[in-house]
This record gives sequence, C-alpha cells and structure tokens, in this order.
Amino acid sequence: MAETNLSALLDRYQRVIELSNDLASTLDLNSLLNHIVHAAADLCHAEAASILLYDEPSGQLQFVSSTNLDAPLMRGLLVPVDSSIAGWILTERKPAIIHNTQEDPRHFNKVAQATHVLTESLLGVPLITNNQVIGVLEVINKNKGQFTIEDQELLVALGAQAAVAIVNARLFQQSDLISEFVHEFRTPLTSIEAASQLLLRSEVTEEQRQEIVHTMRREINRLNDMSTTFLDIAQLETGRSRLNITRIEAGRLLEEAVVMMQGKGEEKELSLKLQIVPQNLCVCADYDKLKQVILNLLSNAIKYSLPGGEISITAESREDDVIIRVSDTGVGIAVEDLPRIFDKFYRVRRTDDMVEGSGLGLTICKRIVESHNGYIQATSEVGVGSTFSIILPQLSLPLDNEPLRE
Ligand code: ADP
Repeated sequence: MAETNLSALLDRYQRVIELSNDLASTLDLNSLLNHIVHAAADLCHAEAASILLYDEPSGQLQFVSSTNLDAPLMRGLLVPVDSSIAGWILTERKPAIIHNTQEDPRHFNKVAQATHVLTESLLGVPLITNNQVIGVLEVINKNKGQFTIEDQELLVALGAQAAVAIVNARLFQQSDLISEFVHEFRTPLTSIEAASQLLLRSEVTEEQRQEIVHTMRREINRLNDMSTTFLDIAQLETGRSRLNITRIEAGRLLEEAVVMMQGKGEEKELSLKLQIVPQNLCVCADYDKLKQVILNLLSNAIKYSLPGGEISITAESREDDVIIRVSDTGVGIAVEDLPRIFDKFYRVRRTDDMVEGSGLGLTICKRIVESHNGYIQATSEVGVGSTFSIILPQLSLPLDNEPLRE
C-alpha cells in the first residue's frame, strides 16, 4: 500500500517537473496563465483553479485567469486583500487548506455569485519569487474527498515555478513592447530634430519658419497620441486593464457615439446614419471601452472617406452574439492590406498621407474587443467602402444589473 502511494506521489512530482518545463518555455502571458490554472486543477484533482495577482494601484487582488470564469467577468472582479482567504494567503505568505469555506469568516462570497460555482473546499498557495509575493494560486472543490498536505506541497512546488514564469513573461512582453515603441518614436523625434536645426538657420524666411513650426507641432502631437495609446496597449497586453462590466443598451450607445461624431462627419460633408437597432438589444461590456472602439471605427470611417460619402452604424443579434457594424463608402482597403490593418503601427501606404494617424487605433479596438471574449473583423473593397464588425457574446451578468466591481 505504502509503495503504491509512494509511486503515485512520485508520478505527481514527475508531472510538476514536466509542467515546470512547459511553463518556462511559454512567454505569452495569457496562454501561460491559462496553462497554469489548468495544470493546477489537474494536478490537485480539483473542480476549478484560479490565479489572482496583486494589483498595486488598487491594493487589491485581481482575477487574471480561471478555469471556470469568462475573461470579461473575471477582469472586473477584484478581491479585497483584508477580507478574503486569498488576501490572507497573500499577506501571511502561507498556503492554506479550508475544508468548508462557507464557514470561514474570511471567505469572499461574490466570486461564487460570478462563477456560479459554490466554493466548498479550497487550497491556496502564495506565488512568491525573489522574496516578493505577486499573487495567489487557488484550487477549489476536490473531486473526491478533501485536499491533503500532499496536494498542498505539490501546489506549492507548481506555484514556485509559476511565479517565476509569470514574472518572466511580463518582463518579456514589456521589453518587446518597449522596443517596438522606441523604434516608432524615432521617426517623429528625428523629424523634430531636423526641423529645429532648420529653424536655427538665418536664411529661413518667416513663411518657412511658420511651416517648420507647424511640422514640429504635428510631430509633437503624434508623439503625444502615441504615448497615450502606448499606455492603453501596454495595459491591455499585460492584462492590467480592468473591465467594469455592465448591461448596455446597444441602441443608446450607438446613438451617443453618432451624436459625438456628427460634427466631424459634417466637416467632411459625410452623412452619418444610425440604422434601426432592435429595442432592448443589450450587451454586457465595459461601457467606456466599447464606446472607445465604436468612436475609433467611426473616426476611421470619416478619415478614410471622400466628401459626399455615407457612413452607417447598426447592431443586431445573431444566436448568442451581438454584432455591431460600422460601414462606409470610403476609399476601401486592398486585399493584401486587410490581414495587417489590426497590427501595431500598420498603416496602408496608399492612405498614409491622406490623413494623419499612428496605426494603433485598430490594434486597440482589437485588444478591447478580445478582452470581452469577442472578435472584430473587416471586409472591404477598394473604391467601394469598408465594413467593420464587432462580434460580442451576449453574456449574462451574475448580479442583477449591477457592475461586478466592488
Ligand atoms: P490610423 O491611425 O492609421 O488610422 P488604424 O489602426 O486606425 O490607424 O488603421 C490602420 C490602417 O487601416 C489605416 O492606416 C488605414 O489605412 C486603414 N483603415 C482603417 N479604417 C479604414 C476605413 N474605414 N477605410 C479605409 N481604410 C481604413
């Protein structure tokens, strides 16, 4: 009997070693987190597993990955450090096994409301690396029996490897992003530098001086926009962007966006039309972020249209999804460019001197829509126009019409 137990234990440790190797080679943060939670649930024979990372700005724990929680809901879910079991594990830097969470005063009940999974038993370990605690790895509800000290030791071993891998993936992602941005910042900086040299020359006429200053200001604005967008992208890519999910009436949101962009459309003699949207068509999303996506698409439709054109926006439901469409009769996008327009900094060569832009607008749109578990796609024909469609799942809110965030 003892021998069988020993060989089973060795098998489980062997599994931890294999998993550690897999984790060390995954540098994409989201896939890494997903990998860790599934490995943890599997290793401890548990119903579900989650990772909560400490979020410095809010001083709370934030769900970043879970085997049983949809990404949009999860990202809005904050867990207070001072009144939760995960918070206790984080502060005490100690693992914990709770056989009956409902009787534990530290249990934070709102998670069960969001996941629809009642937490009966729980095993959690702190994620520590370099003597720094970055979060908590939890498994809940053992499939058979109770969590044991053996489960705890295995999860501690997995947690130690997971913590190192998480920190590495974050660093890798940041350095990747930073090098891309430094590269892109160089062009406007070089042109500001060249313009300032020109300004110093005595033979420059007043008219030329005005033009040079204008160029400099345009490049400075571009740098400014790029910095703001950079922060947005960095937050979305490192999973630090929080969503405040509420139930949104699609018609109202689209109307608000059209009203905001009407003036810009009129300046270019374009008509902006809101098509009829089914009444009570609702989507669960972060209002401000979804509005940002729609405003971005409308702004592009205006930018890449010629006077006299038409822009229309509509929303409809299809099975379990809500589809929002922004269509224009603008210059269109060639087939060879279409697959790349959502890439960072990608601007179609034919249109890049038509209007100013950073090539980041659609990247942000894509990231925001994906953080809602949705996707965005474009169809287009050169000289005819383009249609951008946002497809979002019709999620249901765990609490009646209330945002998830504390
Ligand atoms: P930009 O700041 O250049 O507008 P985006 O990421 O928003 O960056 O868009 C990337 C590229 O996709 C644009 O440079 C443009 O060539 C093309 N594009 C985007 N929207 C449209 C549209 N509605 N019609 C035609 N081309 C578009």
